[in-house]
Amino acid sequence: MTDRKTFDIAVIGSGPGGYVAAIKAAQLGKSVALIDKGFLGGTCLNVGCIPTKTLLSNAAVLKEVRHAAAFGIETGPITIHYQKMKERKDAVIAKIRSGLEGLIKSNKVTIFRGSAQFESPKELKITGTDNLYLHADQIIIATGSIPLDIKTFPCDHERILNSTSILEITTLPKSLAIVGGGYIGCEFASLFAELGVKVTILEALPSILTAQGTTVSTFMTKVFTGKGIDIQANVSVQSIENRQSHVHITLSNGHSLDADLALIAVGRSIYTDGLKLEKAGLSTGTRGAIEVNEQMETAVPGIYAIGAVTGQWMLAHVASHQGIIAASNAAGHPIKAHEAAVPAVVFTSPEIATVGLTLEQAQKEGYVSASQGMFPLQALGKAQASGETEGFAQIVFDKKTGQILGALLIGHEASNLIAEMTLAIQHELTLESVLETIHAHPTMAEAWHEAAAIANETPIHLPPKAKRP
Ligand code: FAD
Ligand code: NAD
Repeated sequence: MTDRKTFDIAVIGSGPGGYVAAIKAAQLGKSVALIDKGFLGGTCLNVGCIPTKTLLSNAAVLKEVRHAAAFGIETGPITIHYQKMKERKDAVIAKIRSGLEGLIKSNKVTIFRGSAQFESPKELKITGTDNLYLHADQIIIATGSIPLDIKTFPCDHERILNSTSILEITTLPKSLAIVGGGYIGCEFASLFAELGVKVTILEALPSILTAQGTTVSTFMTKVFTGKGIDIQANVSVQSIENRQSHVHITLSNGHSLDADLALIAVGRSIYTDGLKLEKAGLSTGTRGAIEVNEQMETAVPGIYAIGAVTGQWMLAHVASHQGIIAASNAAGHPIKAHEAAVPAVVFTSPEIATVGLTLEQAQKEGYVSASQGMFPLQALGKAQASGETEGFAQIVFDKKTGQILGALLIGHEASNLIAEMTLAIQHELTLESVLETIHAHPTMAEAWHEAAAIANETPIHLPPKAKRP
């Protein structure tokens, strides 16, 4: 292999971190190489955000059809063609992937297909479809993460699946046991339960969605149970056997269960395999993460890391934000990452959207006057009109200054609605700012106005006694 090329900046990995960094660096006038050994778009586009949300859209359509009679629309018997749902999912990915390739090329970023490994802090060896040595003054690592396997019963991708292999099934199982009740476990539980699959969640901690706080986990446990999802918390899975026609799961409490398929969703591991970081003088820290400073620069000057590989957040939009930060710094425009207001959404039905601090976190962080206002969607005109009354909006704020510290919305369109509170927290706005803002009527966004009014002890659309939920 003698081919050798030189670029100002090389980016390893084309997920939402890497491709955004590459485009930004090119826009700042640098010559940029983007290297990926897999499909463009990384985890998010190919086996993460987009495929799961495409499948969840099918479930949302089904839910609407099922509720159509209440809106005076009679439908016939419903037939689910899961293969078609899967094909639609594949088509959506293919379309976005091709658009992404065009977008990257239109920014004059050169794409290389192959596996990158360090030869030195400024030298990469690429092997695969493209084979060459690549010199770059600055290198951005964006190699992401992969599903975590449980060593004692690894996925066989036949009946014991992970979040990647479950996307390939073409027929619906009758029953599905999900190990892990976090983001992935709950999104797939929501999807398959809506499609009529008997879902069981096996969670090691005392409840599902623990990381999202007690309000969320308590509410969603009730919702899921109401949908017929069997939640077994505080359990430890001892073994999973593929018995060809089904899986047999043994729990350490002596109980066992059978299901058509098992999905392992117990987290993701940071991926740096094959990078030969040591040749760049880099080592990894906790859980194999590459540590970075606020400029997203590693301990080795000129080498940056962004996204899931930094082990801080495993969210696509954070990877993209960090990509912009790393690219700007690498291109000589100093800028720091700001992560005080990171929205996070669990795309269950109903959706769960959070940003900033919970009340408990605010109190722990020293906000002695932290308080909250909660407004049930039941009392909102638009929610009633569209038959989407499940859930609530909650604002956490500092009573002393009125500053908004955190927000949570469980309900229809929560994923879109959280943007207003993200902007408010990012810019240190107060309850007053929300109260003074005219919200269009009738909209779900009015829930924030109402929650702010309740927090301010001036509720309009709830009786005064309801002001302290
Ligand atoms: P990745 O997207 O993981 O991309 C890394 C890329 O690097 C890959 O393409 C890989 O092929 C490449 N690579 C690795 N090593 C090398 C090498 N040595 N040489 C060349 N290329 C290499 N997040 C959200 O915000 N919203 C969601 O709704 C959401 N849903 C998800 C659903 C699922 C099922 C999963 C699994 C994840 C989901 N996520 C979601 C998380 C999101 O996908 C990740 O946080 C995001 O993709 C991380 O982006 P990244 O750029 O850091 O890395
Ligand atoms: P997670 O950390 O969200 O949840 C893992 C769950 O598995 C936890 O509740 C944990 O207690 C449980 N668990 C761990 N080991 C277990 C065991 N042996 N038995 C039973 N339960 C066990 O991880 P995930 O759901 O795999 O998702 C990985 C990451 O991907 C998330 O942290 C998130 O950042 C990202 N993601 C984001 C979205 C989104 O933004 N909508 C969607 C999917 C994934």
